[in-house]
Amino acid sequence: MVAKKKKVKVQLVKGMKDILPDEQLYWNIIREKVENFARNYGFSRIDTPIVEFTNLFKRTVGEDTDVVSKEMYSFVSQGGDKLSLRPENTASVVRSYIEHGMLNLPQPVKLFYIGPQFRHDNPQAGRYRQFWQFGFEAIGDDDPVIDAQMIAISYFILKDLGLDIEIQVNSVGDSISRTEYIKVLKKYYQDKKKSLCKDCSLRLNKNTLRLLDCKNKKCQELSEETPQMVDHLSEDSKEHFMAVLEYLDELDIKYSLNPKIVRGLDYYTRTAWEIFECSSKDGKLNALGGGGRYDNLVDMLGGRETPAIGFAIGVERVIMKMQEAKVELDKGKKFDIYIAQLGIEARKKAMHLFEELRLAGFSVTENMSKKGLRDQLEMANKKGAVFTLIMGQKEIADETILIRDMESGVQEIVDYKKIKSEIRKRLDKNITKNLKLKK
Ligand code: AMP
Repeated sequence: MVAKKKKVKVQLVKGMKDILPDEQLYWNIIREKVENFARNYGFSRIDTPIVEFTNLFKRTVGEDTDVVSKEMYSFVSQGGDKLSLRPENTASVVRSYIEHGMLNLPQPVKLFYIGPQFRHDNPQAGRYRQFWQFGFEAIGDDDPVIDAQMIAISYFILKDLGLDIEIQVNSVGDSISRTEYIKVLKKYYQDKKKSLCKDCSLRLNKNTLRLLDCKNKKCQELSEETPQMVDHLSEDSKEHFMAVLEYLDELDIKYSLNPKIVRGLDYYTRTAWEIFECSSKDGKLNALGGGGRYDNLVDMLGGRETPAIGFAIGVERVIMKMQEAKVELDKGKKFDIYIAQLGIEARKKAMHLFEELRLAGFSVTENMSKKGLRDQLEMANKKGAVFTLIMGQKEIADETILIRDMESGVQEIVDYKKIKSEIRKRLDKNITKNLKLKK
């Protein structure tokens, strides 16, 4: 007798997430919104590979950041290359900008992306190890109007998606003022070292700015009294920042100044912002994304000194907030026609009709394996079909077909040969009726 094999269940890798059909509606709406904004503001899509040389992130995001030191999926390839799954997309976009000589194009080069990122973070609600971000990057211009426009895009996309949004903005200064400020901060924390959390006492020398946005209660208390970056900005950076704020006022964007917005990564300079959703029941602000200038990044990666700015927003977080806020979704286009069939002969004919209508440009759907009419009408309703075509033995014999208006339930017999023009006529009538209703 053959021993029965024990079944081993397959399962999802920890921190990963399936995007099931029910949720795809949110994804489609977000993709569409992002693409529309990109078109309006003149951004072109870029897709970079998921895998890059590990060094790209070490040099840019920074070896001492959590993202690089703790959270990267890194491995050595069969060929011996040290590679990583991208933890964010900006470094890759800038690598591509340099490698493809985009500095010879009219500046700024405006690019957007939407794709998965990977961080070996602690999974929890709204935090995954593979998550998606969409982001916009404008490379090659340091005019403050670009900063304001980038903030505006991040703000208006989320507002258009039905969320209540607040922007918190800061300036982390240019390299010189940033270096000066870090010195001041180190001095401030020197005699408070013992009260810092373990992570912050390690960060103090390597990634000092991060002390300002540590979530530990004690560290937060200490950071209340820190000297502020705005008081240490160079004249140039200050002027730049004031101009950004002026444009934001002009655009009526809901923002507040937050001297603790430093962004986690090494490459940020001058304008930095985070985007919060503020309608949560618990009263907590939830970060949906963030952005900032990275005027040294192109240079850091071996290109010509080039100012740039960008932001990234987490898609899963946005969807979570849209669901919490019960944002009403426009379910989009439904089906014009559902084809119902009764009996094997009718089913065969219906299969041909389905192809014929599909090729003629109708949006058509079916459930050929279903047998009863009631079941099929129920499916037609669920799928939101405007009309159902019903075909049985009698219709085949008479060379006719039944058209059922799904809203009124009225059924009419029409000549099978005239089916396309009959449907078109009815669909046109429906459009006119809907337009009148809207008025
Ligand atoms: P960051 O690149 O860290 O500034 O993150 C920008 C946005 O990406 C965050 O505000 C989140 O919306 C999203 N995000 C970052 N990390 C994760 C994660 N582990 N899971 C889900 N979303 C994330």
